[in-house]
Amino acid sequence: MAILEQHKIGKVSIQLQVTKQNNKKVPFVYIPVTLSFWILTCKPFAIPFQAGMGDTVFAPMYQLLQKRGVHIQFFHQVNNITLHPKRQTEIEFINIVKQVETSEPEYMPLITVKNLPSWPSKPKYNLIDSDQSNLLKEHLVNLESFWSNWPEIYKNHFGKDLPVLQLQRGRDFDTVVYGMSVASLPHTCGELLLASHKLRNAHSHVKTCATQAFQIWTDMSLNELGWNRHSFPFLDGWRGSLDAYASMNQVLEFEDWASYGKDPQNVAYFCSQLNVTNFPPENITNFPQEMSNIVKHNALQKLTYARDIWPNSFENGHYNWTMLTDLDELVGMRRFDSQYWRANIDPSELYVQSPVNSSIHRITTNGTEFTGIYFTGDWIKTGINMGCVEGAVTAGMQTAAAIIQQHDRK
Ligand SMILES: Cc1cc2nc3c(=O)[nH]c(=O)nc-3n(C[C@H](O)[C@H](O)[C@H](O)COP(=O)(O)OP(=O)(O)OC[C@H]3O[C@@H](n4cnc5c(N)ncnc54)[C@H](O)[C@@H]3O)c2cc1C
Repeated sequence: MAILEQHKIGKVSIQLQVTKQNNKKVPFVYIPVTLSFWILTCKPFAIPFQAGMGDTVFAPMYQLLQKRGVHIQFFHQVNNITLHPKRQTEIEFINIVKQVETSEPEYMPLITVKNLPSWPSKPKYNLIDSDQSNLLKEHLVNLESFWSNWPEIYKNHFGKDLPVLQLQRGRDFDTVVYGMSVASLPHTCGELLLASHKLRNAHSHVKTCATQAFQIWTDMSLNELGWNRHSFPFLDGWRGSLDAYASMNQVLEFEDWASYGKDPQNVAYFCSQLNVTNFPPENITNFPQEMSNIVKHNALQKLTYARDIWPNSFENGHYNWTMLTDLDELVGMRRFDSQYWRANIDPSELYVQSPVNSSIHRITTNGTEFTGIYFTGDWIKTGINMGCVEGAVTAGMQTAAAIIQQHDRK
């Protein structure tokens, strides 16, 4: 069982998640430590994101691929990759659920916010078949969720299952690049896991964890809130859950608050590991809502300590909700409802950890027994071996190099 240990190194307090293996304590890197580690080590040579990660990292990558003629199909969910029944090292089929019908052959995902091509948090409903998009909106469907109730809603409305495409090796594809997370393996390629000792080994040693986050915008500036130090705040290990806090005021310039009539003066991001003891099967569709409620509760709890960092955020001994930027102009604690919180619980969203002695169990991109499939992402062995975009990009480059090498050999 995992336990938390509090350690002090000089003045810095560090939490380690520890498990017992063969009666020896084995520390796991605990996510806030990892997150702050990047910032602390990267600060001298890294530039903080000037807008959201989707807009600064993923949108440009998407645009580049599009420019190079890569054909990208959105709303296609891989649900099973299977092996050839006789040749157990060859991929045979990939089954893909087509989640929605788009109204144009090429779905363009980006929106423009203050001249910056940005990745929206919801699909562009106007580019989806109108019957389907109305249903999606009416039932607040999250197509990315592992626990999505869309298959059931679709079947009840249209009287049939969502369409499934079956791609066959040799006919529809030659080479597969598997870019989903290590935690997705059991849900998308159970047969491969059973057949490959190396893949199973990577899956059991490269651990993942759920995370939680919330963001608040305030009409008061950091100075007005009482943060009177020279540097922007970046805290870690601050009072229990959601213990990593970073001021992200530099992104405000790229947010559009025209309908509010004035710009917020401060935006704060909080994040940490989320303890989830049991991930239920996909038919338990209320699980994401339950987790979201827990994160909201934790966030509200966190703000009761806000006086530690923002002494002026309290009035008469209580957190002053009026300072929260709220487009709906609600009263009291309800102003929190227009802030942002999130439970990252989907298999593909889980944070890839780097427990001690786990790197040797990672696989290289073509390091399994299978031919014609390359694994990629921040969980494979790249030399970086940690959950970060640089790890994912390096993995992508190594995958490309391995495919080119294989092609040249032929
Ligand atoms: C809370 C949090 C904060 C982070 N902050 C930072 C940070 O500040 N800096 C940093 O460098 N890194 C950060 N990371 C880590 C970073 O996000 C990951 O390392 C990176 O996204 C991994 O990229 P990837 O391509 O390996 O996997 P992913 O980004 O997970 O990509 C996998 C893709 O597969 C898709 N997918 C999943 N299932 C299916 C399916 N069944 N069918 C089809 N497609 C599917 C997903 O939609 C997704 O697009 C953070 C991670 C978390 C959880």
